[in-house]
Amino acid sequence: MEISIPFFPYSDIYTSDRNDLLSIIDSVSSSGSFILQNELEEFESSLAKFLGCKYAVGVGNATDGLMLLLRAAGILPGDEVLFCSHTMTATAAAIHFVGAIPVPTECGPDRLIDISSAEAFLTEKTKAIVPTQLNGRTANMNDLKAFATQHNLLIIEDAAQALGAKFNGQSAGTFDIGGAISFYPAKVLGCLGDGGAVVTNSDEIYHKVKLLHNHGKDDNGDTLGWGINSRLDNIQAAILSYKLKDYDEVIIRRREIARLYNERLKNIKELSLPPGPENSGLHFDIFQNYEIEADNRDTLREYLKQNGIETIVQWGGEAVHQIKTLNFDVRLPYTESFFERCLLLPINLSITDDDVLYICKCIRDFFKN
Ligand SMILES: *Cc1c(COP(=O)(O)O)cnc(C)c1O
Repeated sequence: MEISIPFFPYSDIYTSDRNDLLSIIDSVSSSGSFILQNELEEFESSLAKFLGCKYAVGVGNATDGLMLLLRAAGILPGDEVLFCSHTMTATAAAIHFVGAIPVPTECGPDRLIDISSAEAFLTEKTKAIVPTQLNGRTANMNDLKAFATQHNLLIIEDAAQALGAKFNGQSAGTFDIGGAISFYPAKVLGCLGDGGAVVTNSDEIYHKVKLLHNHGKDDNGDTLGWGINSRLDNIQAAILSYKLKDYDEVIIRRREIARLYNERLKNIKELSLPPGPENSGLHFDIFQNYEIEADNRDTLREYLKQNGIETIVQWGGEAVHQIKTLNFDVRLPYTESFFERCLLLPINLSITDDDVLYICKCIRDFFKN
């Protein structure tokens, strides 16, 4: 039989729980509870509880969540905001759309923001730093906080990929001003469409985001200022509550897949692997992605494709500052060479151990290892 391992089988997030999901959709819809209803409140409180933080606010998507956080934090037009160029354009777009200037920095060997590079881009206008907690791993927040304190910067986390990831026991998204989490279908906690959340421990940020995300209105319906519409649908919230119940097991499984990849690929000298789950020190990683670096990456990719294995180069193969139409005028040599080597291997709940062993065998065959 021909082997076929898709990178992410989107329909599985529905079909694997079809009956339960249909009954959730049916009961929520039958009661007419579509916008800002109980299911949303319940999800927001379970999410905050899960992360060990004070507040969660459902929003339309993580990009909006970042924008709302930047706004609520008081970032103003003309302010400069540092971010790591190995991220989705969404991180930079959120900064851009509050009128601030996104300033890209290098990533380090752990794929996360490189603080020494960030230091080189500081000016008097730098007001905040937005670390992307990429691939389900949290940046070293001790170092980042020290850096932010020293230079008087706010930290706003792009935790779109990091729901449940921890650093020193604390959840990604909850360290300073707050973080944005994504429920885009391919994320570890994916819903059936777009969705996101803002998480924070700050009363002030919470109240501002609550107003901003719902037309500037408070709970009485009074308009207290300008706002937009970026709400999480009640149906999606109900689906997310259902999925959140099994989330710990999902993380266990993803960490197991990562461990298996690391074990089977560790002796191939042409590769460099992400830190495995078992030896990550202060980090607790949830493996939104399993990102390797490989010699002859494009040829390897083609070889894997011929063997039925679909892989992805994150962000379509370019760091944000390399996207010509966005007009960044900066060279980031480490990140640029990283983007010639990086590759995402399939990691999701539909992958079996046998699939992982097969993928690793194909990679070993390719490198004649
Ligand atoms: C997915 C993602 C986003 C955007 O999330 P949306 O919910 O689709 O807006 C932002 N940053 C990173 C790192 C992401 O992976």
